[in-house]
Amino acid sequence: MIPTNGQYADVIVPLPVAGCFTYNVPDELNGQVVQGARVIVQFGMKKFYSALVHEIHNRKPEGYNTKPIEHLIDAKPIIPVTCFPFWEWITGYYHCTLGEVLKAALPSGLKLESETRINYNSDYTEQSDQKLTPREQLLFDVIREKHSLSISELNNSVLKKNSIAILKELLGKGAVSIEEEMKESYRLKTESVIELPERLQNEKFIHQTLDLLKKTPLQQKLLESYLGLSEILNQKVANVVTKKELLLSTGISAAVLNGLVKKNILSVVNQKVDRLATYKGEINEVSELSPAQSDALNQIKLSFESKSVTLLHGVTSSGKTEIYIKLIKECLEEGKQVLYLLPEIGLTTQIINRLTRVFGDKAGIYHSKFNDSERVEIWNKVLSFGSSDLGKSPESDYQLIVGTRSALFLPFQDLGLIVVDEEHDNSYKQYDPSPRYHARDAAIILGHLQHAPVLLGTATPAVETYYNATSGKFGLATLSERHQNIEMPEIVTADFKDAYRRKQMNSHLTPLLFNEITGALERKEQVILFQNRRGFSPFIECKMCGWVPKCNHCDVSLTYHKHNNSLICHYCGYSTNHPGTCNTCGSKELTNKGFGTEKVEEDLQVIFPDAKIDRMDLDTTRSKRGFEKIIHRFEQGEIDILIGTQMVTKGLDFENVSIVGILNADNLLNQPDFRAYERSYQLMAQVGGRSGRKNKRGKVIIQTSEPTHPIIINVINNDYEAMYRGQIAERKHFKYPPFYRMIGITLKHREKTELDRIAQELSANLRERFGARILGPEYPVISRIKMLYIKQLWIKIEREISVVHAKRQMQEIIDQVKMHSGNKTIQIGIDVDPI
Ligand code: ADP
Ligand code: ZN
Ligand code: ZN
Repeated sequence: MIPTNGQYADVIVPLPVAGCFTYNVPDELNGQVVQGARVIVQFGMKKFYSALVHEIHNRKPEGYNTKPIEHLIDAKPIIPVTCFPFWEWITGYYHCTLGEVLKAALPSGLKLESETRINYNSDYTEQSDQKLTPREQLLFDVIREKHSLSISELNNSVLKKNSIAILKELLGKGAVSIEEEMKESYRLKTESVIELPERLQNEKFIHQTLDLLKKTPLQQKLLESYLGLSEILNQKVANVVTKKELLLSTGISAAVLNGLVKKNILSVVNQKVDRLATYKGEINEVSELSPAQSDALNQIKLSFESKSVTLLHGVTSSGKTEIYIKLIKECLEEGKQVLYLLPEIGLTTQIINRLTRVFGDKAGIYHSKFNDSERVEIWNKVLSFGSSDLGKSPESDYQLIVGTRSALFLPFQDLGLIVVDEEHDNSYKQYDPSPRYHARDAAIILGHLQHAPVLLGTATPAVETYYNATSGKFGLATLSERHQNIEMPEIVTADFKDAYRRKQMNSHLTPLLFNEITGALERKEQVILFQNRRGFSPFIECKMCGWVPKCNHCDVSLTYHKHNNSLICHYCGYSTNHPGTCNTCGSKELTNKGFGTEKVEEDLQVIFPDAKIDRMDLDTTRSKRGFEKIIHRFEQGEIDILIGTQMVTKGLDFENVSIVGILNADNLLNQPDFRAYERSYQLMAQVGGRSGRKNKRGKVIIQTSEPTHPIIINVINNDYEAMYRGQIAERKHFKYPPFYRMIGITLKHREKTELDRIAQELSANLRERFGARILGPEYPVISRIKMLYIKQLWIKIEREISVVHAKRQMQEIIDQVKMHSGNKTIQIGIDVDPI
């Protein structure tokens, strides 16, 4: 990219301030500053930030003098210009700042932090009236020796205690000075690698050299080992041999190696190494599609010709993934990039293995459990794919990215396809912090901007998506049979209210579910049980006085976790020991109310003592590979019954699952949310989809007190359309999306009365402008989280009204209210299309 000449640069600072800021380009940087590169600028009185250059121009800003750019960090852009229109759309639509997008987009390793450094003052001479005390002298010597120290290094120095106080004295006496310095947190990982000079790289010279080393047998042996490990004489490209590896494998000391280095026989060089594992396995052919799948593929391709977005509505296990693979392959062959989005937890080894088996090294994975340095490397591999001058696709770059929602912000320059798998999943929505974007909707815009078709796939589309697909805005392709015609599971209900009344319940199990599990265990088949709550019991209660322990910071009862005998707040993480006795009346009779996954696990182990039972929820999957380990054990048949939350509903394929039980469907249906029924349907249909494989029809048992609930009937009949018709009619009647747009406004304050007052003022002002389109203010179900009271408002806007205009008006009103004295401490967050 050619640098643009210009005197001014508009930069994005990583702060929630609107717009860009203009700096002048100093002479020494003239012609070097490029769009998408990072620079360091002073912002405010003393602070320095790394900022991103958005535009370079010659328009002198009016009314103020610009400050210069302090420093240029990148010679080449780290964000291609193609990304900016997407960022701008995010800011406009989701009502946030470019700085907030910058923060969400860049891995922290590419964001710079400022760090204070203490520098030795070389001009300093001790004055007789300001002599250094012994402790000051000690610290001064440390700083002088190193020339400069960071605050964190200072805290680790000789004077662990009081070092800051002593530092202040040294500053006062002029012995040291302080400097704000930018620190790049990403460092290349390097390793010492052994190399053989080129002159020795032939059989003859090597034999001579080995002969010469006869008198130093250890050196000779080390060289021989190197030759063996590197296979340098047998291969065009030698294997990389690290110093560590060589010394470890021979047990010879580094001193011997140094001897060889001194003789110029071997050399040790620092080499950048990849943190990312590369795929070394075999590359498989893409599967042949079945006639139904080929038909769906053709429908999709036809749709791509006229629609920018297409929905693939295919029942669970119909082979949607096989179709994505075909499309991805074609796109990669054209030399274009592909983005394949998955929900957070869907990114398992199962899908990764399936894709890498076909696409090998071209595929990169991007998700939140990667550490920062790994993310920077992925970023660079996507960036260099697009920037390569040597034609497309150098071996080590990523052409296909499989990732969770934040993968949208990777530096793509030439996307040819975006796949959004399980598009209905709500983990695509970012809640906090801003930008509160929906990855599916943002992917549609990204595809539009890069002229790449977008394919949404799911067995249970979001109501909005299905509306768009059936009203002609999106294309639609359908797959209504499972691969190899495996039957859809048989779904039945079990009335637990009735069973309780008759005292037939076996812990959490109705007689029906109990018998089915018993049968499955006898046949050596596996069982999945779904319970929507984790922990042991959602709350504990005093039998005598009714006291329920609540979180000190949130308006919510504490969940009992038995394994560590603690009460935990699932909203803020606050944790305390089980009190043992009632805080109010001192009674010892504290009973567990309701049941979570942990309790189900414990109780089932009593009922089925010989079964191998395991649990998959947030508590058992916190580690980087926690989730995968459980899945692996389940696949290997090391688990008979798997109990889990939402996590067990995600597109996993298990061969041997014959029974799926939903322990309490009422929990799902009774959520106070206009999407509760839609979500219940999706969850039940998805978890049901885990049962029934190759040669056997699976069975799903739904425990509920309302076996005739319309949603449950829809699930039983596997009738998505009926669910959709019911829901879309309600959405229309009650003015919800997709017929109306919604914007949520959340207010938070430490003082309840203040919150009430300001919420009242804001809603009154909004009503003046928007009338009956304003709903609320109301307390949400959990009305206090992390010490802050919460109230919510919503604006419902007709599709015909300009949403841009409405947002501007809304912002003006919010700004006015915030300006009033006394209202400054309110926190107001905007959520466009809240879900
Ligand atoms: P979905 O994504 O719709 O849930 P999958 O693509 O995971 O369905 O397919 C379900 C199972 O059937 C997978 O194990 C997959 O490998 C297999 N399968 C589907 N289509 C084919 C095909 N055309 N050839 C071979 N196996 C297939
Ligand atoms: Zn009590
Ligand atoms: Zn809490």
